[in-house]
Amino acid sequence: MNKLNIVLFGPPGAGKGTQSKFLMERYGLGHLSTGDLLRAEIKAETPLGLQAQELMSAGELVPDEVVVGMIRNRLEDSPGAKGFIFDGFPRTRAQAEALDATLDAIGSGITLMLALEVEEEELVKRLLGRGATSGRPDDQSEEVVRKRIREYETKTAPLKDYYKAQGKLRRIQGMGSIAEITARLTDAIGD
Ligand code: AMP
Repeated sequence: MNKLNIVLFGPPGAGKGTQSKFLMERYGLGHLSTGDLLRAEIKAETPLGLQAQELMSAGELVPDEVVVGMIRNRLEDSPGAKGFIFDGFPRTRAQAEALDATLDAIGSGITLMLALEVEEEELVKRLLGRGATSGRPDDQSEEVVRKRIREYETKTAPLKDYYKAQGKLRRIQGMGSIAEITARLTDAIGD
């Protein structure tokens, strides 16, 4: 069976979570957000959550082995799935390589990386706006928001080259209305 596995990529505030919801419904995919999984661990006060909390509130990445382990468990638990949207993962080259190896081991692979591109000042505006209502501690301060964007630029954005080399990168203009951006994403996926 051919699976549809999409890396929905982009800086914090690019709209990955919002767009994931539309794509899940349209294509019948599972949604794997490492940020959501980590926030659930924090809420449940697990040892992993406690370990991640400090790094997340400082706007820094949590260790690769933590998020890779979470994703591996979810993939191994759902062999019948039509495919997944990966949201906020991978964020480093080590994570991308681990994801490829895990999918390869179950006879699957990444279909496409859709990279949402949004200007920095727009990201800051969106994140601080979200912080006013979401209660997410890492959306509250401009300093932490800018730190997350720096982490993205230095550690995560280079993954575009990783997927480009595999012929899987599609750059998507991430400015505009939610519906316009959904239409660009579904055009890139097809069907
Ligand atoms: P997100 O909800 O994707 O914006 O993630 C919120 C925070 O969780 C990030 O700022 C990181 O501290 C942490 N996080 C989420 N996903 C990852 C990942 N794949 N690798 C490392 N840290 C992550």
